[in-house]
Amino acid sequence: MLLKPLARVRNIGVIAHIDAGKTTTTERFLYYAGLTHRVGEVDAGNTVMDFRPDERERGITISAAATTFLWNDHQVNLIDTPGHIDFTAEVERSLRVLDGAVVIFSAVEGVEPQSETVWHQADRYHLPRLAFVNKLDRVGADHERVLGEIRTRLGARAAWVTLPHGLEDRLDGVIDVIEQRWLVFDPDTHGRELESYDVPEAARPEARLARERLVEQVADVVEWLGDQYLAGQPVASADIRRAIREATVAGRFVPVLCGAALRDLGIRPILDAVCDFLPAPPDRPPAVGVDPSTGEPASREPRLDAPFSALVFKVVAHPSADICWLRVYSGVLGTEERCYHPRSATRLRLRRMLRIRADRTEPVERAECGDIVAVPAVKDIVTGDTVCDPGSIVSYEPIQFPETVVSVAVEAQTSAERERLLAVVGRLTREDPTFTYHTDPETAQLILSGMGELHLEILRNRMQREFNVSARFGRPRVSYRETVAAPGEGVGEFDRRIGEVQVTGHARLEVRGRPREPATRGMAPVEVELAGTAATLPPQLQRIARDALVDVCSAGGPNGYAVIDVRIRVLEAKLSDAPDRSVPLLASLTMALRKAFSAARMLLLEPVMRLEVRAPEESVGTVIKDLGTRRSEIHETAASPPFTLVRAYVPLAELFGYSTQVRSLTQGRGSFSMEPYDYQPVPEQVAANEDAFA
Ligand code: GDP
Repeated sequence: MLLKPLARVRNIGVIAHIDAGKTTTTERFLYYAGLTHRVGEVDAGNTVMDFRPDERERGITISAAATTFLWNDHQVNLIDTPGHIDFTAEVERSLRVLDGAVVIFSAVEGVEPQSETVWHQADRYHLPRLAFVNKLDRVGADHERVLGEIRTRLGARAAWVTLPHGLEDRLDGVIDVIEQRWLVFDPDTHGRELESYDVPEAARPEARLARERLVEQVADVVEWLGDQYLAGQPVASADIRRAIREATVAGRFVPVLCGAALRDLGIRPILDAVCDFLPAPPDRPPAVGVDPSTGEPASREPRLDAPFSALVFKVVAHPSADICWLRVYSGVLGTEERCYHPRSATRLRLRRMLRIRADRTEPVERAECGDIVAVPAVKDIVTGDTVCDPGSIVSYEPIQFPETVVSVAVEAQTSAERERLLAVVGRLTREDPTFTYHTDPETAQLILSGMGELHLEILRNRMQREFNVSARFGRPRVSYRETVAAPGEGVGEFDRRIGEVQVTGHARLEVRGRPREPATRGMAPVEVELAGTAATLPPQLQRIARDALVDVCSAGGPNGYAVIDVRIRVLEAKLSDAPDRSVPLLASLTMALRKAFSAARMLLLEPVMRLEVRAPEESVGTVIKDLGTRRSEIHETAASPPFTLVRAYVPLAELFGYSTQVRSLTQGRGSFSMEPYDYQPVPEQVAANEDAFA
């Protein structure tokens, strides 16, 4: 149930590079809105949004919890977004359910590689944004440089909406550029209360110029303001605000604010700007999915009178019960009504719906268009699922996740512990689709796979602390893949008595490699073609055949790694009459595929990352020299004073522990980001030295 009319709802997230000040800023939002009674100090480790022990310790935010508060007669749903590349999936998932975002930059560090990655992800989702330049109180703060980077590196049309008054230790407030007022914040309320004054004489020229620039930038993209501006008419503040909103909602302009969260300075204007400039749910385009019965695209208008539809964007595993987080895209669902879950093709009821206000929950009677609601564990629902009106079915396209690149082996000491371990791992994979697991058929070890070292380390901490799992964890390793270098053919025979009947099956197939394009996210790694007698099987058996072959590939080829970039052509599939013909079909196909892989020449592939290092000028040489020892291919260096960006492709195997290395190579001033880029053959001499292939 919405707390305010739909036009006054804001679903927003705060996006920032680690340490830019996301937690410090968010805490003030919640405090101003009356949700917390004192502002948690990040450094003391007791903030409201970061509620997991490992997050407190690290001071970073991982789980995408959402919290609701009222501000200026608006309902703000603040959806927590993570900021580390190891959590790409969480970033993508939360971006998709946001209507707008506040992106925080540090006035000292500027636009970091990581922020650039997230910014471009947000571009893909056409997400309207505000920018906030934080830490103006710090020595070396240079807000104009950051605005320059927002324009050049991020390619955004941007202008100041608030400007600093004073800088570093002389910072004593901000200037409201639209109203031309000097705002001074009350430290006793952490900046919730403020006084406004005429802009001091000395700052007036700069303030006037900033207003001119702001109008100019917005007038370029909002026609009616452009007409007024060109006619030389004075532009009223209300008109500027209305035009900024239009331009921002259309994704053609980014209002930029500034302040110092830790000094309680300039934060309140961000909340006002969220209400003034960021879109309400109906301002956003319709949500697009497919009609599962036809496979045709289907969309839902963001309206209360449209059929109900919602996306499960997050499942949070808690030791007591899982919580599913839903973003409602259209319509209304009451707790007494049934809805439909397309993936399992079942109807269900969401009997309990909740809203989270920081650390307390309150019941909600209806899930309404534009809202975020939480529901306690519903069977079979996982992250990425749709729930919708049974009479009007839609399935939102699942969020596509990159493949996992790092694995770690886990061993439980007793069989009881092993069961617990499996249960906990199962829950955590429901929560996070980029975290997967399987059992190694040879060693019977449980192998967990994820997006990076830090990702697996955090999961391990959660298992140990929240779920009390005591198991031995191995060293993280690269998740290799294998593919077919030279084609092979295989035959599988099945001949067994089942009950009264003699059942036979015969299958013949061939496997060959398939060229890959870099970064083919979402491209099916295995292509199956049914030819000859296989093509004449009934559709249901054909589907079983396809699924089984794909499953065998992901379970692992002759070297035990998932097989990708292959084409399987089934040449024959003959089955005798039997009550259940799927049994001989599965058995003969699996055998034929295994034999084909043995006959083929297989090739090991390793994940290669796209790496960007931001190094201070004096350490560039050392960073490049070090990369030279890591089988890297440097493809670009770009100046971004006072830093140099080094962009390279590097095998993941060479990047374990790289964060420590970057710190020591750059005396703590450098930073880097990486993301999966491609799979490439492992050079023979490397394979020979790598015990992973033993
Ligand atoms: P997050 O990683 O983005 O959530 O960043 P935090 O909010 O945890 O802040 C990182 C560090 O920067 C903490 O030590 C904060 O106290 C500090 N910090 C945050 N905002 C400011 C600011 O405006 N000025 C200064 N000097 N430090 C800040």
